[in-house]
Amino acid sequence: MKDARAKKRSGARGRSPLVGKLVVFGVGLIGGSLALALKKRKAVARVVGVGRSRANLLTARRLGIIDEIAIDPSLAVQDADLVLLAVPLGQTAAVLAQIAPHLSAKTIVTDAGSTKRDVIAHARKYLGAAFTRFVPAHPIAGTENSGARAAFAELFDGHKLIVTPERETDARAVARVRAMWKLAGMRVATMRAADHDRIYALVSHLPHVLAFALVGQLAGYADVAALFGHTGGGFRDSTRIAGSSPEMWRDICLANREALMRELQQYAAELHVLHQALENNDAAKLEEIFSLAREVRSAWTQQ
Ligand code: NAD
Repeated sequence: MKDARAKKRSGARGRSPLVGKLVVFGVGLIGGSLALALKKRKAVARVVGVGRSRANLLTARRLGIIDEIAIDPSLAVQDADLVLLAVPLGQTAAVLAQIAPHLSAKTIVTDAGSTKRDVIAHARKYLGAAFTRFVPAHPIAGTENSGARAAFAELFDGHKLIVTPERETDARAVARVRAMWKLAGMRVATMRAADHDRIYALVSHLPHVLAFALVGQLAGYADVAALFGHTGGGFRDSTRIAGSSPEMWRDICLANREALMRELQQYAAELHVLHQALENNDAAKLEEIFSLAREVRSAWTQQ
């Protein structure tokens, strides 16, 4: 029984793995972790890596994340079953333009980008007829570390994957991508790309920007080294994500700039209320704001 369950989870069921040839553009934290998760469950036969940094690809091959480094990315995608884009968002258009002429009719293309509307717009523009086999997705899992060395097979366990298919997206392609991420350990949810970008501007992009700004504020003081010497758990917890890749976050902010600007404006209004309460020595107002936040947060964490 245990054996049968393990086989079912592997996707292999004693037959061929779910994905034959997987080509990963960007073998970093996300691309590398997916490759490792699928390999662990014997759900992929061969992983080919495409990258910008030769050193990172060599590391990925040495660590068993990929089986091969693509010599020519255009050739590598020709007989791929699945192509995953796990590159910084600013690279999406260039990669799609590069692979579009070489995709076969069986190849499914998917991505892991943190924003969805811009990725879909690029895919629509560059993929032509293959756009129906493009499945936009975003795994809600990560760490502040990047590169192949940061990848690990358990990254996605129990976390949520959001898929945002368009009207034209082939249902079988969506089913395959969902099955792949489920095997990697994820729970899958579907939503509209616009809803995704609005929600993640608030719950992910805004907190990252705030963490960068908070560390930036300290960095702007002449005695920055001494200041860091006084930081404790509060500062560490609130700024862990400021250790994330600047390139990745530059691209996410620009890709979702309108939704993010709206949330930043709202946040500025919240700060203004706090500032006013301090100006007026308004203890009741401060307590009201803090109590509400604590109440809402503990209801969320106890769910
Ligand atoms: P990463 O920096 O760890 O990996 C990205 C890799 O892409 C790097 O190895 C880089 O060399 C490579 N690369 C850059 N340009 C390339 C190009 N033109 N062609 C091929 N390879 C190229 O980043 P990551 O954290 O794995 O993020 C990858 C994607 O996943 C991003 O779009 C990000 O928005 C998304 N994402 C990240 C997280 C997270 O927490 N890190 C979570 C969910 C989604």
